[in-house]
Amino acid sequence: MGTILIENGAVLTDEGWLEPGYVWVVGERIETVGAGKAPAEICDQAGEIISAGYCAVLPGLVNAHTHLSQTFMRGLAGGRPLIAWLKDLIWPLQNAITPEELHLAALLGLVENLRCGTTEVVNHHKVIPTIAHTDAVCEAATAIGLRTTIARSWSDRGANRESPALIMADLERLFDQWHASERLNIANGPIALWRCSADMLLRSRELAQKHGSYTHFHVSESLDEVQMSLDDTGLRPVTWLDSIDLLGPDTQVVHAVWVDDSEIDLLARAGAPVIHCPVSNAVLGSGIAPLAKLQSQGVSVRLGTDGPASNDTQDIWESLKAALNFARIKTLDATALSPMEALRLAMGAEALVPGAPADLIIVNLNHPRAMPVHNIDSALALSTHGSDVDTVLVAGQIMMRDRQVLVLDEAALLAECRQAVNSLRKRAGLN
Ligand SMILES: [Zn+2]
Repeated sequence: MGTILIENGAVLTDEGWLEPGYVWVVGERIETVGAGKAPAEICDQAGEIISAGYCAVLPGLVNAHTHLSQTFMRGLAGGRPLIAWLKDLIWPLQNAITPEELHLAALLGLVENLRCGTTEVVNHHKVIPTIAHTDAVCEAATAIGLRTTIARSWSDRGANRESPALIMADLERLFDQWHASERLNIANGPIALWRCSADMLLRSRELAQKHGSYTHFHVSESLDEVQMSLDDTGLRPVTWLDSIDLLGPDTQVVHAVWVDDSEIDLLARAGAPVIHCPVSNAVLGSGIAPLAKLQSQGVSVRLGTDGPASNDTQDIWESLKAALNFARIKTLDATALSPMEALRLAMGAEALVPGAPADLIIVNLNHPRAMPVHNIDSALALSTHGSDVDTVLVAGQIMMRDRQVLVLDEAALLAECRQAVNSLRKRAGLN
C-alpha cells in the first residue's frame, strides 16, 4: 500500500487551519492529520514526502455541473441568449461530433478540471447519444481517474428527441455496464423540463433510484423557460415538478436562477439540492440565482462551472468567487457569504479528517496575487486561480504534482485536440 506524507503546509481540519500541519495518507485514505511536524515513525515509513511550504492543503473541489462535450465549443457564446445559442451553435456541433472527437474533448475537459483542483466532476452528457458516444466519455473518465458521474442526458420532446424505449434501454445499459465502477458513476440527466415529458421524467427517475443514483436536470435557467412552462402547464417549473411529485433529495436542480419564494420553499421542503453556475448564468445573460435566499431557507447548494461553451473555462475557483460576489450584489449586503462559506460550496468535504478518502489538493499561496496571506480563507476564495493548484490526490493517487499532470501525456493530447477541432468545425458548417 502506498504511503504519502504531506508536510509543512497549512492544513484544513474540522477545528480550523493547522499552521503548519501534516497529512499522512495510507493507501486510499487519510490516516492521520496533525499539527506541527510529523512524528519520526511516520517520516520513516513514508514512501513519498511532499513539502507544502507556503501552501494550503484542503479537500478536493467538486465541479457539480459541466458538459464535457462542449470542451471543443468554448469561445462561441458570441453574445447570444440561451435559446439562440443552442440553436445556432451548440446543436449543430453536438450533432456533428464523432465518438473519437468526443473522447478527446472529454479527456481535455477532465484534464482542465484536474489542473484546477477538481477531484470530482458531474458531466451532464449532452450530445445526440449513440452507445459509442456515451461509452467514449465513460472510457475517457476511466482513463483520467477523477471521480466522475455521467448524467446521461435525453429529451423526448422537440428537436433531437429520442424514443422513450430507446432512452430507458440506454439508461439501463449504462447503469448495468458502468455504474459504481471504481471512480465512475451514472445518473439520469433529462436535459430540461421544456424538452421532456412528465411520464418519462417519472419513469427515468424511478430507474435511477433503483440503481441508487439520482436525477440531474436544468431547471429555470432563463426567464424564457419559465414563460414556456407557464404557457405549457400553467405552472412555474419548480411548482410543476412538485405537482407531479418529482422533487426530492435525489433530484438535482441545476441553475434555479428564476425561482420565486414559493418555489424556494418547495425545494427546501423536498430536500432537493440546487447546483449554482454563476459564471455561465452571467455569460448567457440569464440572471443571478438567489443563493443567499436558497441557503437561508435550508436548500443545499453546490457549485458548477457549466460547460465550456457558456463559461468558457472549467476553473471552479472563478465560479466560487463569482458566487460570493453575486450573492453580495443580489442582497446588497457585503456580509452575505463569507470566504469559507464560498469554499464550502465547492469543497468535496468540510475538512481533512482521518478515515476519509484521500481526495485533496495543495494550493500555492506563495505568489504576488495572494501576498500577504493575512487570512487563508480569503486568499483561497478571493485570490486563487486554478493555475495556483500545485498537487492533486484522488483516493491517495497523485494525479498532478508540481503542476505536472501524471495521468496522461498532456502535450500529445493538446496536439490531437487541435487537429480534431478543425475537422469538426468543417463538418458542422461553422467555417
Ligand atoms: Zn448546463
